Amino acid sequence: MAIARFWRENQSRYNMQGRKCGSCEAVYFPPRDLCPKCRRESIGKMEKLKLSGKGKVISYSIVHDGLPEFHMQVPYTMAIIELEEGPRITGQIVDTNPDDIKIGTEVEAVFRKLGQEGECGIIHYGYKFRPKE
Ligand SMILES: [Zn+2]
Repeated sequence: MAIARFWRENQSRYNMQGRKCGSCEAVYFPPRDLCPKCRRESIGKMEKLKLSGKGKVISYSIVHDGLPEFHMQVPYTMAIIELEEGPRITGQIVDTNPDDIKIGTEVEAVFRKLGQEGECGIIHYGYKFRPKE
């Protein structure tokens, strides 16, 4: 089943599960099996870490061109979020006006439909961010 495979492959993404290096405490998301700083030191020391999904906007841009494959409403805001645990990830900001996003805005992850392939195709879910209340 294509959908079951999709769900398995997206477990770490869906749960926002990262890895923490037991040697230098750096946190990675998406998860890595080896810490690029410690390399051999980190072998066997990468621990699973569930991320809070909370962070702040460190950079953003307002996108006016829609990606047809994602059926997105334009304009929308894409931001680089620095998570509480340290990793920086890119995500779409939802539930707000693009004008309300600033550098430093605190956000939290929410799970939303990312897009749909074709008329009755597979629906992709993933994390997006919204301003923290
Ligand atoms: Zn390390």
